[in-house]
Amino acid sequence: MIISKLKEAIICFKAGRVTLPYPFKPHDPAENFRGRVTVDAEKCIGCAGCAEVCPSRCIIVTDPSPDKRVIEFFLERCTYCARCAEVCPEDAVTATQEFETATNDTQDMHIKVELFMSTCRRCGRCYEPPTPLDRPMETGMRPPAGGNGNGEG
Ligand code: SF4
Ligand code: SF4
Repeated sequence: MIISKLKEAIICFKAGRVTLPYPFKPHDPAENFRGRVTVDAEKCIGCAGCAEVCPSRCIIVTDPSPDKRVIEFFLERCTYCARCAEVCPEDAVTATQEFETATNDTQDMHIKVELFMSTCRRCGRCYEPPTPLDRPMETGMRPPAGGNGNGEG
């Protein structure tokens, strides 16, 4: 009994230090570490691919009006799998190296992207314009409903 414990102690001492001094010293994650995701709203085309693959269903896509799409990330449920970043066709989602996400306010873990979309003339649903040239013509530069684009109703 005592001998086996002594053997265990020798093995442990031989191993040297195996823990990190974090949080007393900063810890740099490994190169491919998957931390908190960020979204570049300028790149997002509203395809909803990220929401389709999210295993924890924490990406919600809504169309509050025919030409507006809202993509919301509720990252308090995120499992850091980075599937959203993997499938995003525009590389709009990035899995950063940030891992210190503890917070008292869940709003800190929310990301909201609002996009103006083209709408199908037949079914009225949102879609991404077919070419980059169509995009400024058909999306964000459209006047608000009931307005003429000059801020006049
Ligand atoms: S990292 Fe995974 S769980 Fe988190 S938002 Fe992306 S797909 Fe969802
Ligand atoms: S973040 Fe990427 S995958 Fe998600 S809706 Fe935008 S373009 Fe599509």
